[in-house]
Amino acid sequence: MWQLTGHARAIGLLRRSLEGGQLSHAYLFVGPPHVGKYTLALNLAQAVNCASGDPPCQECAPCRRIAAAKHADVHVVDLLSVEKKEIGIRQVADMQSAAHLPPFEGRYKVFVFDRAEMLSHEAANSLLKTLEEPPPHVLIILLTARESALLPTIASRCQRVELRPLPAAKVREALIADHHVAPDRADLLARLSGGCPGWAVLALRDEGVLAEREERLADFARLCDAGTHDRLAYAADLAGIFSKGRDRVAGTLSEWLLWWRDVLLIKCGNGRWIVNADQEEALRHQAARNSPDAIRGFMHAIGRTARELDQNANARLALEVLLLNMP
Ligand SMILES: [Zn+2]
Repeated sequence: MWQLTGHARAIGLLRRSLEGGQLSHAYLFVGPPHVGKYTLALNLAQAVNCASGDPPCQECAPCRRIAAAKHADVHVVDLLSVEKKEIGIRQVADMQSAAHLPPFEGRYKVFVFDRAEMLSHEAANSLLKTLEEPPPHVLIILLTARESALLPTIASRCQRVELRPLPAAKVREALIADHHVAPDRADLLARLSGGCPGWAVLALRDEGVLAEREERLADFARLCDAGTHDRLAYAADLAGIFSKGRDRVAGTLSEWLLWWRDVLLIKCGNGRWIVNADQEEALRHQAARNSPDAIRGFMHAIGRTARELDQNANARLALEVLLLNMP
């Protein structure tokens, strides 16, 4: 059983490739954080090593060992395991020497690179050689939320599988059926997840996720009424966070974008579609204060800033401009 919520097309494609013996030696799974890339990669690793006639069965010894991260032929390379800011040449060299040995207990050696965009330039060039001449019985799966940050030559040597955000109703349904969440709570989490079920499950397990979001949104609501000095100070704080890890700032900008989208929906009389249903009072307050054009203009500015940060613009300057232009 494939354990992924939604993504029937991606599963169908992989299943047909497996059944037809047409499996690619390398895949690139592209999609936002928590959309299901990692689960799909593990399920594919199970499917190629499964001992039953209906892979991945989740019941046989190989499927269970892979789920428990105990299978000798399935390796995950991520930033957590290397404890560095990037995946370096050393990790790729380790993977290459392991790849040249035959599988130890399964049929395929599977190497999953989580956040493949964090491969250093040197590491990516080295990996390219393996992608060009892959040893037999090796399957490489790259996962990324930032495809534009990958070397194009790497991407072009992998079969690309895109995982798009799911409809909120689908996430809600899965939360109720698989996690026994009460309908109201499932509704809020599904809306906030942005179509990424993994985020909703994370928020279920860790109360801090929602608490931190509320804190960030309260800061944000305060900033709308703050003067230049406070806005510049906040921009400096954000730039400091960005220098340590860009993902948190990218997440904050996505939250702001959704928040202003909700303000615009209320302004245009479509309040039932809002995502931040628990913030309705603050959203209505901003809707009353701003024109639709001003809201749209700021939404464009948030998108522009996110792109600039992605292209390595001066983070502090870009964030200062954004905050000074906030309605
Ligand atoms: Zn199995």
